Amino acid sequence: MDADSPRHIAVIGSGPAGCFTAQALRRQWKDADITIFDRLASPYGLIRYGVAADHQHTKAVTRQFDRNFGSGDFRFAGNVEVGSDIDLDVIRAEFDIVVLATGRWRDRTLTVPGAHLDGVLVSGDIVNALNTVPRPNIPMPTIGRKVVVVGAGNVALDIVRFLIKTAADYADSDVSPEALDSYLSSPATEVTVLSRSPIASAKADVAMIRELGKIPGVRITVANASPAAEDNTLGRKREAAFAELASRDVDEVRAHVHFVFGATPSRVGGTTQVETVHLSAAPSGEASVIPADTVISAIGFDVNAPGHWHYAEEYDFTPSDTLGRIGPGLYRSGWLKRGPVGAIPANRSDAHQVAKEIIADVESGDCTINPEAGGYEALPASLTKQSVSFAHWGRIDSAERANAGESRIRRKFHDHEDMLAAARSQDS
Ligand SMILES: Cc1cc2nc3c(=O)[nH]c(=O)nc-3n(C[C@H](O)[C@H](O)[C@H](O)COP(=O)(O)OP(=O)(O)OC[C@H]3O[C@@H](n4cnc5c(N)ncnc54)[C@H](O)[C@@H]3O)c2cc1C
Repeated sequence: MDADSPRHIAVIGSGPAGCFTAQALRRQWKDADITIFDRLASPYGLIRYGVAADHQHTKAVTRQFDRNFGSGDFRFAGNVEVGSDIDLDVIRAEFDIVVLATGRWRDRTLTVPGAHLDGVLVSGDIVNALNTVPRPNIPMPTIGRKVVVVGAGNVALDIVRFLIKTAADYADSDVSPEALDSYLSSPATEVTVLSRSPIASAKADVAMIRELGKIPGVRITVANASPAAEDNTLGRKREAAFAELASRDVDEVRAHVHFVFGATPSRVGGTTQVETVHLSAAPSGEASVIPADTVISAIGFDVNAPGHWHYAEEYDFTPSDTLGRIGPGLYRSGWLKRGPVGAIPANRSDAHQVAKEIIADVESGDCTINPEAGGYEALPASLTKQSVSFAHWGRIDSAERANAGESRIRRKFHDHEDMLAAARSQDS
């Protein structure tokens, strides 16, 4: 090994950003020891705990990371939360390079009057319940029959799909049976989706819009305040996709979804529970008061959520599309770097860019290699003992698959402690 090559690399966060960055660094430095830490006992971040259960094909990206972990390209150290189980400084002292890839995951909440009423929910609570997020596990909140979804990006469309799908649509998935049953015992029949932007600049991917058309028994209607200009190709594609949804013949309607583009909610009405949503702007002919018992906001993530960077508060986490470096030998990647936008492939290109930057810093001497650093093995024994290895995760994985139940691929553990018990089940 070249004396100037890093020997010990730590990546904090095992989501796609962390894994893609580790892959790119591994390609450059074949002999470096790379450890990926995660606060959870399972790897892969939002691929496991955010991507919708009816999109299992998207989760298949984890197979390539499985191979990396399985072949020893990198070590998994789960159940290690940087900031509470170990200080970032302690990790930095033992590793030549540290890459933070802890994502950004807290919903932005509605700020209109009435947003505190019972029945106002954030999409994250529903996503977490359906994906069985542990630490802490939150059960499916109560959702009524008349739902207003605020937002029209991909996460909002995930929520709309969930509201209008049936139990059969989750065959061969890993959805939480408790969360799904709880909702499907009394599913929504009227769903209104409000988007401030016109269709042309709404964030949803065309493929996500088209997918709604494959769900039987649902009538979809659309109101749009200002159509896309001739030269806005993507906007026109989105409009065409929505027009196609609205033109479908639907037999035996179970539910009605009405998309209103160019609509601004100004207030949620009710005394203790949501009763109405009031609009300050809406396309002409549209109601300005919508009866509702539930409001679900899917309006993006709060970049500055307090406590999020408790492990590294002294650094600047303003989103950046360019530089990953935030300190000597300290970098960031993925949503923590660019802000909470973009799908999994965007993290791959970002990770490659960050890896290039790291390699250039090492080659130019801007990132110095510490011959005294001992890497993972030099961390306190209590910490390495508590950490969950990839082999440990394999036991959790096997237990979840064994518990899958009929027409499911796995049944995830609800409880972090139960995951740890399954991980250690065969330790002597
Ligand atoms: C609801 C939802 C649905 C989505 N659906 C899709 C989809 O269908 N297709 C698609 O391509 N993209 C989808 N995305 C986007 C995709 O999930 C993100 O682009 C991607 O996960 C961001 O990767 P990341 O590695 O930066 O963050 P994350 O995936 O959030 O990973 C961060 C990791 O860091 C860990 N961590 C956090 N803090 C600490 C700490 N202090 N110590 C140790 N570990 C820590 C977390 O446990 C987590 O594992 C979706 C996103 C959401 C929110």
